[in-house]
Amino acid sequence: MTNEKFIEQNSTVVNFIQLYCDSKHKDAKKKNSSIKLIYNGEELKELKYNLCSDCENMLKYANERLQNCPHEIKPKCRNCPSPCYEKDKWKMMAKIMRTSGMKFGLIKIKNIFN
Ligand SMILES: [Zn+2]
Repeated sequence: MTNEKFIEQNSTVVNFIQLYCDSKHKDAKKKNSSIKLIYNGEELKELKYNLCSDCENMLKYANERLQNCPHEIKPKCRNCPSPCYEKDKWKMMAKIMRTSGMKFGLIKIKNIFN
């Protein structure tokens, strides 16, 4: 995939996991940190986050998978012919995407009405 796509995909993952952690793990201990996006040996960007350790692990895992994605033109992970996520990680990620996707939808609706 292109560098732009790589940044975009990682940014989405960070946003979704952050939103999920904010709403589901309100009382968990969180830390401020950041992840460097490195693709084809080039450092592209640094993304900041404030996550609990579980969510941080998930983020690092997702970033690693994206880094190693062999597809020139990346399909949606859901439609991938050679899925690279382990089953439990995939389930977790699907849950995060579903939960946060709904929240993002609500924010959008709210913005229209305000
Ligand atoms: Zn969390």
